[in-house]
Amino acid sequence: MKRTGIVLYLATLLCSSISQESGEESDWNYGNQPRWEGQCTTGDKQSPISLERDNAETEWRVFPLSSSISFSDYDKQADGTFTNNGHSVEMALEYSDPSATPRTVVSSEGSSTTFLFRSLHFHWPSEHYINGKRYDLEMHMVHQSEDNRLLVLGYMFHVCRRASSGMEVVGASVNRLESVGSTVPVSQFAPQRLMPGRLDQCGYFQYNGSLTTPPCTEGVTWLVREEPLCVEQWELDAFNNVTNAEGTRMAGNARDLQAINGRTITYHRCVLVAHWRFFWWLW
Ligand SMILES: [Zn+2]
Repeated sequence: MKRTGIVLYLATLLCSSISQESGEESDWNYGNQPRWEGQCTTGDKQSPISLERDNAETEWRVFPLSSSISFSDYDKQADGTFTNNGHSVEMALEYSDPSATPRTVVSSEGSSTTFLFRSLHFHWPSEHYINGKRYDLEMHMVHQSEDNRLLVLGYMFHVCRRASSGMEVVGASVNRLESVGSTVPVSQFAPQRLMPGRLDQCGYFQYNGSLTTPPCTEGVTWLVREEPLCVEQWELDAFNNVTNAEGTRMAGNARDLQAINGRTITYHRCVLVAHWRFFWWLW
């Protein structure tokens, strides 16, 4: 009972913010973006944007000795549900214990904020562009802090021959999410199965942006990885068969690029200490 109570509490707490990113509002679609409400048209720190190393401020880090971003417990498993919500396919995992919930800690100027992982969803093709390139698929891992601030971890995918075991689960599930409202249970899934092998803070762009679905609320911390991950063709085909509320293909569920408006984009680049005091490996 206690666990159920906590889950219900979290669901209530999150519904106002996370459902916005995952898209539960009904009267908008990707064909009417100029008419999206909220901060979508009035904001000046909107997402997605084009991320380029040449336009980013590089922040050098000696890894693993110093870190302004850290990832923990993404290998923890939980049960959950994969849903076609009409705008995307979304996997929500039910972690009842906050201390065992996957989390990202972002530090700056002496203070740090912990963001707990809540859910993940996809856009195909990608919303962000990386160094001028748009990818086949983008995954957003939505996180929330105790004081309701949001962080999204973004990962690009391109088609290649051998994807992760996590993408195999995703592909098989998405194959069963063709119509709006359909759900598939997920059992004992660890988010790390969808993430890069090295869970460190290197190779990420960081900037201050917004939700990419109405009402496009600002104040979202974005961490978007430069290097793409692998999706197999059959998995991408599964996404392309998913349909939206109008019964047509959901493909194209990506918001247009937004103006950067002078925002600072940080690129986290690492100096890896491969062998203490002897080798410095530029990465
Ligand atoms: Zn998204």
